[in-house]
Amino acid sequence: MAVDFAALTNPGVARLRPYRPGMPEAELHRRLGLPTASILKLASNENPLGPSPRAVAVLRDELGTLHRYPDASGHELKRALATHLAVSAERIVLGCGSNELLLLLSQSFLSATNSAIYSQHAFVVYPMAVGLSGAKALVAPARNWGADPVAILQLLRDDTRLIFIANPNNPTGTWLDATAMEQLLKALPPTVIVVLDEAYCEYVEQPDYPDCLALARRFPNLVLTRTFSKLHGLAGLRVGYAIADPSIADVLERVRAPFSVSSVAQSAALAALDDEAHQRRSRAVNHAGREQLESGFATLGLAWIPSAGNFISFSVPAGDVGAKRVHSDLLAAGIIVRPVAEDYALPGHLRVSIGTEQDNQRFLTALGAAL
Ligand SMILES: *Cc1c(COP(=O)(O)O)cnc(C)c1O
Repeated sequence: MAVDFAALTNPGVARLRPYRPGMPEAELHRRLGLPTASILKLASNENPLGPSPRAVAVLRDELGTLHRYPDASGHELKRALATHLAVSAERIVLGCGSNELLLLLSQSFLSATNSAIYSQHAFVVYPMAVGLSGAKALVAPARNWGADPVAILQLLRDDTRLIFIANPNNPTGTWLDATAMEQLLKALPPTVIVVLDEAYCEYVEQPDYPDCLALARRFPNLVLTRTFSKLHGLAGLRVGYAIADPSIADVLERVRAPFSVSSVAQSAALAALDDEAHQRRSRAVNHAGREQLESGFATLGLAWIPSAGNFISFSVPAGDVGAKRVHSDLLAAGIIVRPVAEDYALPGHLRVSIGTEQDNQRFLTALGAAL
């Protein structure tokens, strides 16, 4: 008789589903036969300008050293980040994308005997990480689509170890301002760790956005995670980092897989960090593209959730049926956006990543036709 191995897994695993990424161009090519070069992917919040050219140049130079293991300590990249951020290197932990750091935090601090809080519509990796750990997931109702500190505090229990907040949040683009963040940290016991996921912080233009590096110096229970996947355009290489109290950083280093950040990822990240021209261009394109998309949505009579990131979730008439139809019409036109009804409880919405001016125009024209 066939063994049901799935029934033998750890508690928590049975309820997990694989992460559903934005559809890759190759899949749309297989499905509809469209030429890959004609496909516009606006589904994974990737940098529309591509990777930092400096990072690409470094990668070419390094291919001959691929037989070597990476520097397991990530010494140089940590040192560069420490200088760049004005924090000590012992506070920095590197990860295979910031995703690895989110998992390390839950592996290290969560178990079936405690609980973690995240918000409604929060980044889907949090439910996955908490679910895998077996900890109780406490989901705080959102306010105006975003994290609500009051609702989070109401859910707090004696056994709560972690609170996950994305600032800004994906897919809503909502953010907590400096006052809200400080009030939340002041109200929490110092033993409750706040994991503040700042994957998109480099795009934020709001003057009231919190200076979380300064807050982290005052509140040792504040852990920041950041990434090279978005602004720096290195999503394919998988490199992110956490900034944490040295004692938390030490815990994460103990749990981390030895060579989880590849040699080339470390070198490319180092180069990208210095590539201020690429960062500046990327921010400028995002700023202009956000205005372009917002005015396009307004012209089409669509509502959207104001976003501080490099993506916008917008609502489609006729609710979920409408969103499914518009999604498939856009696919037929070679444009991939992200459905957010199921994974993010945002029925009737779609999320589009901000592209170049040309990308955005093509998307808006196809969207207008689909409506
Ligand atoms: C894209 C994203 C990340 C980054 O993930 P990486 O593993 O660093 O590529 C983290 N958090 C949120 C909210 C994101 O949207």
